[in-house]
This record gives sequence, structure tokens and C-alpha cells, in this order.
Amino acid sequence: MISPVLPTYARAPLSFKKGQGPWLETDAGEMYLDMGAGIGVCSLGHAHPKLVAVLEEQARRLWHTSNLYEIPNQQALAEKLVEHTFADTVFFTNSGTEAMELAVKMARKYFHSKGQPDKVEIISFEGAFHGRSAAGIAASKGAKMIDGFGPLLPGFVQVPFEDLDAVKAAINENTAAILLEPIQGEGGIRAFGAGFLKDLKALANEHNLLLIFDEIQCGMGRTGKLFAHEWSHVTPDIMLIAKGIGGGFPLGACVATEEAASGMVAGSHGSTYGGNPLACAVGCAVMNEILSDGFLIDVSRLAGHLRQGLEGLVAEHPDIFTFVRGEGLMLALGCKVPVPDVVNAGYDEQIIVVPASDNVVRLLPPLNMSTGDLDEAVWRLDRVAAALERRLDISA
Ligand SMILES: *Cc1c(COP(=O)(O)O)cnc(C)c1O
Repeated sequence: MISPVLPTYARAPLSFKKGQGPWLETDAGEMYLDMGAGIGVCSLGHAHPKLVAVLEEQARRLWHTSNLYEIPNQQALAEKLVEHTFADTVFFTNSGTEAMELAVKMARKYFHSKGQPDKVEIISFEGAFHGRSAAGIAASKGAKMIDGFGPLLPGFVQVPFEDLDAVKAAINENTAAILLEPIQGEGGIRAFGAGFLKDLKALANEHNLLLIFDEIQCGMGRTGKLFAHEWSHVTPDIMLIAKGIGGGFPLGACVATEEAASGMVAGSHGSTYGGNPLACAVGCAVMNEILSDGFLIDVSRLAGHLRQGLEGLVAEHPDIFTFVRGEGLMLALGCKVPVPDVVNAGYDEQIIVVPASDNVVRLLPPLNMSTGDLDEAVWRLDRVAAALERRLDISA
């Protein structure tokens, strides 16, 4: 019999009643160290006092009015994003996928409004993950994501990761945009090089294409800059934000330059919930915290500390872990044993890590962890590796 919850997830038999900072507590009172942060969402950890206070205060005053009226929290958050990014304008959504959906519509509408309605094609990269909507799966093209869901939304072509010649070959008179995650998340924490991003920007300029960055996972401070593309000094025309911006409250955004957004007018797009007072109150508090003095520098410092610990694990357990890669607090451990074994052995040692493609486990911890808790994470992963080594010896 089918479960009351549609069984599209292979869930771990774990449930938590409470969270505090990077710690999650089960019903039985066991404490798990959360190095996944709800897939890079709880960027300030669980139950951050400032977020709790802001949400409680807003919940007592006003929950929802709809976008038929002005929403001061929404305007404040949009102004913050405009001030601190390349973007001139923001549309708020409830999820990353919805931000992706708007980016596709905005790119198409842009060329349509310029009298080039055939320019609809978007080029994406192998290993991409842009969400589970019709446009999202057509852009991502992962086998499990698309199998049985055809016909796919037309207008999406995919090229190998970081292959500039393949991008050039894919460009034709109908190409509208190039879409990528500056650091692929689900694809296994794979970063595009700064040089490649510069080449792409030049190519986009040369062929009059829009550049769309999906920073849903790598943005909002995770790499030690507010957005990952800042390291490369290459700015997109449109960018997707979600996950970290809500700190656990569902919130996303599609941000754009005035030019890229120029096709969008009253009636072109909408959302009942998008940018509602509760979500934007929390979003403002998250932004304030991430932009507070020294916060992002601390992310880089913590990232260096964690990375050093993980490099030590790779050196000590070469039969289990093969490499560390990633940027900031968006790190991956390459695995020589099956990734699910590592994740499950993590549960045994009460540490949460997240699987990804390309034989890696991801570490996406809260951005404000203490070095002591990061050390604890490395010790727990050390015990994970030791447990897996014992199993290898038994089977050998
Ligand atoms: C999570 C994610 C999405 C989808 O976001 P949802 O909030 O799950 O809809 C899209 N792109 C990237 C890079 C992501 O990490």
C-alpha cells in the first residue's frame, strides 16, 4: 500500500524534534551534528535567536496579504539584494525551482520584446541541477529526473562540464542564454573556473546572450562572498537565489539587471505567496546577519579550518576518502566506498552529511559554526572512516 506521503524520497529512519545551532535532537534525545543544514538551507543554524525573534514578531502582526498590495518587508529585502549585488530588480518566490522557472520565462520574454521571438534556447551543463519543474528537469537532464516525464520542454541543450568549444558549437541564432551553477551542488560540488566564466561572459557578449547563474546552493555567503560568482568578477544578467536566503523559511528569488528584466511588465508573472511578509522578515534578518561585520571573513576562516581537517582525513583514510574539493563551506569528500555507506555510517556516529553525484558526500554546514563544532565533525568523520575500514577488512 502506498504511504500517505508520496514515496519519492528514500528517507533515512530518523526524525528530529528540535534543533539548536548545528545540532539536531531526536525524540530519544540523541544529538546529531548537522553538517548538511537541510541541504545548505539553515545557513545560520537551527533556531537562530534573531530569526526566531523576527518570525515570532511578524507572526503576531501579519502573515499574508498577497502581491496585490505593497509589502514593506519585501521591498526592504529587494533593496538589500539590489544594493549588494549586480542586480537592479528582484522577484521573490517560495523555492529555487520557481526562481528557475522565472529565469527561463524572463530570458524568453527579453528576446521576444526585442523582436527576436525565436531566441528561446538555453544552454546548460552536464551535472547541472536546476529543480524539478518542467523547465528545471529539461535544463538539468539527469536520467532519474527526466525518465518517464517526456516530452521534455523544448529549448534546452546541454554540453559537457566546462567545455568552451562545446558551448561555441551549441550556439546558434536561436540561443537565448547560458545557464550554470558557478559551483554545481547536486552534481558533486564541481566549481567552474574563473577563467572559464570569463570566457563564457565574453562569448555571451559576442553573441548577445544572457548569462544566468543558479546560486541557489552556492550563494548567500556559502563560499565566503555573498555570491560565489564574485570570486571570478564575472556577473550574470539573471541570478537564482533560494536555500540559504530563508535560513529554513521557504524563500527564493530571481534577480536581474534592468536590461534583462525589461520584457517583464505588470501581468507577465506572479505568485500568490512569493515574497510574503513572514518569508521576507526572515530573509531580511538572514541578510543582515550575513552582511554583518566580519561574518563572511569568518566563513572563509572556518572553511580553511574545516578543509584542513578534511585533508587530514583523506591522508589518514585513503581507502575511504579520496579528495576534498569545493569552496568555502561548500565542500565535498570524494568517496572510494559507496556514498550511501558513508552517509549511513555517519548516522551511526551521529553526524549528518549529504550525498551527491560523482561519488562524493557534501558538507554544507551552518555558516556560523564554532571551530570546536567543526573539529567535532572531523572527529566523527574519522570514526565513520574507521568503521568503514573495519568492514572492508572483514569482507577482504
Ligand atoms: C536546490 C536547488 C534547486 C531547486 O531548489 P528548490 O528550492 O528545491 O526548488 C535548484 N538549483 C540548485 C543549484 C539547487 O541546489
